[in-house]
Amino acid sequence: MGEYWKPLVLGLLAGAAVFALPLVNPGGDQATGLAVAGVTVLVVAGLGVGFLSASGRESEMVVETVNKDMERLKKEVKGREKTIDEYKTKLVESTSLRRALSSIARLTVQSLEVSRVLEQVMNALVSAPIRAKRCALWLVSDQGIRLEAAMGYPGDPRRENPRASEVVSQVARTGNLIDSENAGRDPSLAAISRGRSHAFVCAPLVHNREILGVIDIEEFAEGRKEKESLRDDVDAVEFVASLTAMVIKNGRMFEEAKERANTDGLTRLFTHRYFQDTLDTELKRAGRYEDPISLMITDIDHFKKFNDTYGHQIGDLVLRETAGVFKELRRENDVVARYGGEEFAVVMPHTPKDAAHQVAERLRKAVAERTYQSEKGDLKVTISIGVSTFPDDAREKNVLIKRADAALYRAKEGGRNRVCAASAETAAKTAGGH
Ligand code: GH3
Ligand code: MG
Ligand code: MG
Repeated sequence: MGEYWKPLVLGLLAGAAVFALPLVNPGGDQATGLAVAGVTVLVVAGLGVGFLSASGRESEMVVETVNKDMERLKKEVKGREKTIDEYKTKLVESTSLRRALSSIARLTVQSLEVSRVLEQVMNALVSAPIRAKRCALWLVSDQGIRLEAAMGYPGDPRRENPRASEVVSQVARTGNLIDSENAGRDPSLAAISRGRSHAFVCAPLVHNREILGVIDIEEFAEGRKEKESLRDDVDAVEFVASLTAMVIKNGRMFEEAKERANTDGLTRLFTHRYFQDTLDTELKRAGRYEDPISLMITDIDHFKKFNDTYGHQIGDLVLRETAGVFKELRRENDVVARYGGEEFAVVMPHTPKDAAHQVAERLRKAVAERTYQSEKGDLKVTISIGVSTFPDDAREKNVLIKRADAALYRAKEGGRNRVCAASAETAAKTAGGH
């Protein structure tokens, strides 16, 4: 409306002038009439131009307003698109975290193999949304803190058996999380994390108040966390940490249960079943590579005498002490089992006949030289040993055991306290017997 007033007022004034003229000049001549008509035409034209220019300006204003609205809407749409993109990213990230976590959880049910689970944990830490660049997982045991898995470091840092940093040690001791934000607020934490120049999160692995280890993210990818708040990451890391702690605890409990099931209660040696399983697996592996395996079966000489003379308790002591000698002399890959009552068996992977004979001889001597102290006085014990070797004496498990048994029988016949290896002769003897 504001732009109409000028032509309107002009028009009204002109109209008033036209009507007023005959009053001022009642006997006006023709010239005056013409002038009045001219002025009227001009006024009407002015009015028209006025209206046209006013409506022109008006439509410009409308276009301007529409453009402004369009701009605003565009901005709004852009803003919403950004929000949608952010949500999408968040969704993708939380989906990948969820996937990572569910794969960790699945593994706990499937395998209970801690090393495989830790691999998945490391993958979850370097993937979205956490995106660690350098991270490590430390496990706490009676022996101290040991690096168990690491990503983003040159080479394999586990080989170097590194010492835990002050930050890791403190988290392992207190069970309290340290990150670059709380270290920034707390001078004592700042002091121990002096060496760290990037944003970091060092979280404890806690299960039922037991501190099992530490997840240490020393740096995030592309330094993207330097300015952003760590809150979301800390939440995610704590979530991964709690699942990992549960996995480690479950794995350990499973290992302990397995060990209990495979261990003989009296001697703490492996059970007969475990011996059979080990020999099976080892023979399969050895068959593929034609790698020798030796087997030793031992029997305590005149064992009945200990039982009969001193009672079963002393008999048990003799068994425990003898098992102790076997464990002491056991080489790294050897598997020592209680084969039967007072018979022990040793599976010796990668061991040819000569070497097996030497190991057996060392063991025989060690037992013979030992004196077991008991409430019934000092006891002297001897053992007899039979040795057989894959593939020289047999390729099949039961035959290999029979050959070792036959050799043991010869050792007994030969006067006890001795080692006999399977030979062509015993091979002939046992060949028909199975
Ligand atoms: P040899 O020199 O011929 O081997 O004589 P030996 O007396 O050792 O004879 P044998 O091997 O036949 O005797 C084994 C005895 O071991 C029989 C059994 O009473 C005893 N025995 C088996 N298991 C246990 C055990 O767990 N505890 C005790 N105390 N004795 C056991
Ligand atoms: Mg026996
Ligand atoms: Mg015996």
